[in-house]
Amino acid sequence: KLNTNENPYPPPPAVVEAIRSAATGPLNRYPDPQATSFRRAAAERLGLPGPDWILAGNGSDEILTILVRAFVGEGEALRLPHPSYILYRTLADIQGARWEQVDFDDAWQLPPAFAAPRDDLKLALLPNPNSPSGTVLPSDRIARIADSLTCPLVVDEAYVDFATDDCLRLVQANERVLVTRTLSKSYGLAGLRFGFLVAQPNVIAELGKIKDSYNCDAISIAAATAAMHSGPWLDDVVAKMNATRVRLADGLQRLGFTVTPSHANFVWCRHPAMVGDAASASHADVYQFLKQNQILVRYMDFPPWGDGLRISVGTDDQIDACLLMIGRALESLSLPANTTASSSPSSAATA
Ligand code: PMP
Repeated sequence: KLNTNENPYPPPPAVVEAIRSAATGPLNRYPDPQATSFRRAAAERLGLPGPDWILAGNGSDEILTILVRAFVGEGEALRLPHPSYILYRTLADIQGARWEQVDFDDAWQLPPAFAAPRDDLKLALLPNPNSPSGTVLPSDRIARIADSLTCPLVVDEAYVDFATDDCLRLVQANERVLVTRTLSKSYGLAGLRFGFLVAQPNVIAELGKIKDSYNCDAISIAAATAAMHSGPWLDDVVAKMNATRVRLADGLQRLGFTVTPSHANFVWCRHPAMVGDAASASHADVYQFLKQNQILVRYMDFPPWGDGLRISVGTDDQIDACLLMIGRALESLSLPANTTASSSPSSAATA
């Protein structure tokens, strides 16, 4: 299952232990509405001045929902880059708001239009690293975008643990910079549902008024708190997954794909024979072939921009199996892969 950017590894053992212990705790009582233990641990881990810089949520999707609900009214505008996370448009639609897409250029950089202020623009959303590309904008470039905009800028850092730069220091410098994070990716806790926002305390206090009272349950708060104390575990897993990302990107290139350099736990790839009017096959064919062989990757189409495949980093065995099957898909489409047998060990075919 390489289609939703989950972590292929189980979460830190300390998290599983915290869940066991919380399950024998006072579940007849409501949880702490402020998730105080988590906010303390997260502030310490991230070097923030205090827990009042953090708002906890039921996954970062809930945090994004709260932000759009708070800032963007009916008929007002929300700005997002394109292609990027599809949920942003849905959240704008729910508000009856308008969304304005600014296209990334060919090098996955944003044109000045993304930073242009406008009266009816109430919020700008920027995933960094971006999905589906895995590319990053440097934090000093994002600081300049935030300075130029007059509305808040949300930097969605769902994948930041796989990258080397982040925007936390911008939050301390500018109250209009808001950073969202999740435990779903690097911490291997997508099933737990826990994410959070980092913003200046006055912003956190106002947003706290519109969240559900008990938006995080007692078990997830205990687990997320333990996760914040699992720094060495995180470093190991991220190093392992980043190494597998190189294995995946190299394998795809050997199979003839163009792979966008990624700073996340997935890669975006396109095959030259599947792009443009003269294409002899399509990325959707490869997706279908893999699916028929029990391998799920993400086929994404962003008309008129184009389509491609987003493949999550799994274990080495899963990636080898995926590469082997992509090679077979290319053969079935009569596209000779310029690959060597050593790039796709057959022993992993059933993973
Ligand atoms: N932001 C981005 C860019 C994502 O890709 C995802 C995962 N689909 C999320 C946020 C949401 O993550 P979660 O709700 O699991 O925290």
